Amino acid sequence: MAFGSRAAGKHRGSSRLSRKTAGYAGIAALATTGVVGTLAVPAFAADKAAAPSMEDTGLGAVVVADELHSEIEYQAESQQRAAEVTAAKAQAEADAKTRAAEAKRLAEAKAKAERDAAERAAREEERKRLNTFVAPIDGSYVSTQYKAGGSMWSSGSHTGIDFHAGEGTTVHAVGAGTIVEAGWGGAYGNNVVIRHNDGTYTQYGHLLSLSVSVGDQVTAGQQIGISGSTGNASGPHLHFEARTGATYGTDIDPVAYLRSHGVNV
Ligand SMILES: [Zn+2]
Repeated sequence: MAFGSRAAGKHRGSSRLSRKTAGYAGIAALATTGVVGTLAVPAFAADKAAAPSMEDTGLGAVVVADELHSEIEYQAESQQRAAEVTAAKAQAEADAKTRAAEAKRLAEAKAKAERDAAERAAREEERKRLNTFVAPIDGSYVSTQYKAGGSMWSSGSHTGIDFHAGEGTTVHAVGAGTIVEAGWGGAYGNNVVIRHNDGTYTQYGHLLSLSVSVGDQVTAGQQIGISGSTGNASGPHLHFEARTGATYGTDIDPVAYLRSHGVNV
């Protein structure tokens, strides 16, 4: 007898019975093939006590087999649902991992952008610091122009500019650089020469005293000494030169030099 001829529908409600009979591997095998006609009735004898209402008839076997089939379907559905739940859980976990990875990536990108911005700001600050120039004497003015003529100068004309300054006035490095000369300079008296980072030089003469030594690194505005009238000077002031080299005779227009470095002279 095939399932097609069975009298009853599915009997999931009485699955307790089926569960008891599930131990019968032979029945399960028959049920899945749909052939129950050859089922031996005595096979259910052991189950009679638990299911006294079941008659040991062919129809009873069909009902039991049908119950078993329903149970197998039910179990298959349960397994399918469990598999779906497991798959959904795995997908949710994968999604959470993806979101976490994306959040981590964004956080790292943000941190990197912040680091880059800080580095750029630091570089810009350093560039500014290295390129900033200031006047050598605060609040002063040029009292003698560049190339001014006169018998005072060995070359016949002024190789720098003089800044008005009383004795003991602070003299600043006009820009960052390295001290290449600090000491007695003949007609210049006590003088300082700085090699700047752009390869140009500045010189400061007639100083009363120095506060730097050869090899020192200086920054723009740093004190290098105080003004005086040492050397060939008619009175206290600062003699200032801009040069293309460290030595006398390489002078260039100091006013144009300072202005080209943003100093208002
Ligand atoms: Zn001078």
